Amino acid sequence: MKALAKERAETGLWAVTRPVPAIGPDDVLIRIRKTGICGTDVHIWNWDEWAARTVPVGLVTGHEFAGEIVELGANVTDLAIGQRCSGEGHLIGRHSRQSRAGRFHLDPETRGIGVNEQGAFAEYLRLPAFNVVPLPDAIDDEIGAILDPLGNAVHTALSFDLVGEDVLITGAGPIGIMAAAVARHVGARHVVITDVNQARLDLAATVADVVPVNVAREDLRDVIPRLKMTQGFDVGLEMSGNQIALDQMVESLVMGGRIAMLGIPPGKSPVDWSRIVFKAITIKGVYGREIFETWYKMIAMLENGLDVRRVITHRFPADRFEDGFAAMLSGQSGKVVLDWA
Ligand code: NAD
Ligand code: ZN
Repeated sequence: MKALAKERAETGLWAVTRPVPAIGPDDVLIRIRKTGICGTDVHIWNWDEWAARTVPVGLVTGHEFAGEIVELGANVTDLAIGQRCSGEGHLIGRHSRQSRAGRFHLDPETRGIGVNEQGAFAEYLRLPAFNVVPLPDAIDDEIGAILDPLGNAVHTALSFDLVGEDVLITGAGPIGIMAAAVARHVGARHVVITDVNQARLDLAATVADVVPVNVAREDLRDVIPRLKMTQGFDVGLEMSGNQIALDQMVESLVMGGRIAMLGIPPGKSPVDWSRIVFKAITIKGVYGREIFETWYKMIAMLENGLDVRRVITHRFPADRFEDGFAAMLSGQSGKVVLDWA
């Protein structure tokens, strides 16, 4: 089969031919139709310090996918050949206290497809049947291929009650933009999204009814009276991994405000803890998706009017993956989808 692998410990990915994966009794084999390129894949492409420490050379990468089940393991009785599906790319253990309590997304033994295990940038993917998420007809393959990052957005956005609340999202990357659409969908009052990249703020405004603020040009504090908010934002969703953005968020939250943090700061970042204490702010770290509650909520919302399609700005056949990565590296893209059909 055709696949994209990290063949050498240097910048890039390589088109390779690999055997179709053999499946075990509890697995399925998925024929991949579409895949999304993630920021994580760009780290692997760039072979930065994290990637070099984490990803084995030779690995088939990619973890955002939609496809069709073409083979069932001997023990798999609740799925069918021909079923369209996406799936959770975090492979969990079953022995930890968290897993045994059903909090699968908190399992400390989690391994990721396309990061630690064979990934989805390939014609076929082996996946435990447990991880399969069947797709309803209302969700086509390209939306199916971005459910992993949409799930990050949904998990973060649903961390706190947003109904009637004023929400600040820092970072208008694909996940921040999708989180903005989710916040509106569930009934937030004002949704303000910040970035320093105007192209991404423009994209955000086409995907969701949000107030885009370019913090390179405009002071976020001026937005609060303009929107007739008395104190500031009730909830912050940190989606940039940027220290300045987090500082601005803490500064512009109300007393007792809440922050859900998905963005990953590079290394240790200083925080003004006394501000957090005196403003009585709650901070929740968010990792991955809740397995499978986030998937359930996300599919229900997509079937009931949540529309994130415009976050997909580029589509390429899989053999033009280099163009796909160039679009990601340009900083001007939303989601980039590769077609394997
Ligand atoms: P992205 O890099 O595409 O987007 C981040 C955006 O933040 C960019 O558009 C950038 O211009 C913007 N930004 C930079 N400085 C800023 C500032 N001062 N104020 C406001 N915005 C600023 O990332 P993404 O793919 O959308 O992912 C969002 C974040 O979530 C990243 O940090 C990513 O590493 C992280 N992430 C975490 C998890 C998890 O499980 N915790 C999963 C996926 C992604
Ligand atoms: Zn991803």
